[in-house]
Amino acid sequence: MKVSIIGTGYVGLVTGVCLADNGNDVVCVDIIKEKVDAINEGRAIIYEEDLEQILVKNLKEKRLRATTNIGEAVKSADVIFISVGTPSRENKAIDLGFIENTSCEIGKALKNETNYKVIAVKSTVVPGTTENVIIPLLEEFSDKKAGTDFGVCMIPEFLREGRAIYDFMNPDRTIIGEYDKKSGDKVFELFKNFSCPVLRTNLRTAEMIKYASNAFLATKISFINEIANICELKGIDVNEVAKGIGLDKRINPHFLHAGIGFGGSCFPKDVSALISSVYENGYEPKLLKEVMELNERQKLWPVRKVNEIFIDLKNKKIAILGLAFKGNSDDMREAPTFSIINLLLKKNANIHTYDPKATENAKRIFGNKINYCKNIDECLNDADVCIIATDWDEFKKIYDKFNLMKNKIVIDGRKMLNPEKCKELNVKYYGVGYKNE
Ligand code: NAD
Repeated sequence: MKVSIIGTGYVGLVTGVCLADNGNDVVCVDIIKEKVDAINEGRAIIYEEDLEQILVKNLKEKRLRATTNIGEAVKSADVIFISVGTPSRENKAIDLGFIENTSCEIGKALKNETNYKVIAVKSTVVPGTTENVIIPLLEEFSDKKAGTDFGVCMIPEFLREGRAIYDFMNPDRTIIGEYDKKSGDKVFELFKNFSCPVLRTNLRTAEMIKYASNAFLATKISFINEIANICELKGIDVNEVAKGIGLDKRINPHFLHAGIGFGGSCFPKDVSALISSVYENGYEPKLLKEVMELNERQKLWPVRKVNEIFIDLKNKKIAILGLAFKGNSDDMREAPTFSIINLLLKKNANIHTYDPKATENAKRIFGNKINYCKNIDECLNDADVCIIATDWDEFKKIYDKFNLMKNKIVIDGRKMLNPEKCKELNVKYYGVGYKNE
């Protein structure tokens, strides 16, 4: 099938590359020319395992190309995905600016088209947006009617950054929100070979399924972090507790890893957007508000530990391992390290950091206020304390490197290390949900 993808960030590029690899003809569109040039040259603009390799393969086999020309991309496609960003406004409500601009542009491009095409919304948008914002703009700018002249679907994306290609190719489910059966049938063709359940529903329900999924997962994380804080007070290891409760099929073991809170481009912004959107309906979503508040508090857990160890942080060298919001990703959006570093800077700490992939993105945020190291050794060298802030696999094997530190103290925000092993090596260990004797 001929497919165009408008917006080639994490979701758009992964969608484009994977659909091309499945044999479709794909055109990726972005307003940023550098991104388009990079894609056409076979350079992935984001870090995701296997992404660049599959991109290069499909460029070579001529199933994929990128352009800044949305009109041309709409013309050539049977299905046009919208995967532009939906960031938070200052008041935390959803910012639909990119969605509105894209809808107008697609509408204009549809004006002179006679072939039936389906517009499929992949961006995360609050329930009602496709019906109340996107369709009216498409109709206004195309002078055409949804359902009659063009189709509309809402296909929420559930991929996890860091595992994006795997998740796209091996989904747990496909949700097809459809304006009408004809629209849904067209999009179903694209996804019919994935071996997962397909749920066909209306547009608004598909939008809500995405928010409910993210809100549930965010709640599960804040829940285990709350349990971790209680465990710490009572001298219990939360990992054992998580293992125990995860064996219950009704609970399951996923997303029960205590840590320093969730970040990234989805959970914080989506839960906040859902909260804002229901305030408009006169309802106060107390549970979700608490999930967000707990998360903000949890991000600063490592700083509370540092404060317990040192009264004054002036000139203390703090080594932070990991900057990205999660391992296997270069994404710094809403990363807990943002809150941690800003608070430590206020306390005049001397901060040295190391991340295998996110350093360039971090430099754009922190500039020369912190130091960026080339490897773990450089980061730990002569440090007063080490904070593990991201769950990169390589941090699991750092035991022998603690000898480089001035004080062998580790604050394990991601529960990467074995406390017993640290004790054997005379490393003072602090972990989320773990009480030191
Ligand atoms: P992103 O910011 O990484 O990428 C969005 C891209 O859209 C950018 O490259 C931007 O230049 C481009 N863009 C903006 N306006 C445009 C226009 N008019 N025409 C063409 N391109 C335009 O965003 P993302 O992380 O890929 O997220 C996209 C959407 O998918 C969001 O709604 C997000 O909530 C949702 N989502 C993201 C993830 C994730 O893990 N990142 C997962 C599921 C869903």
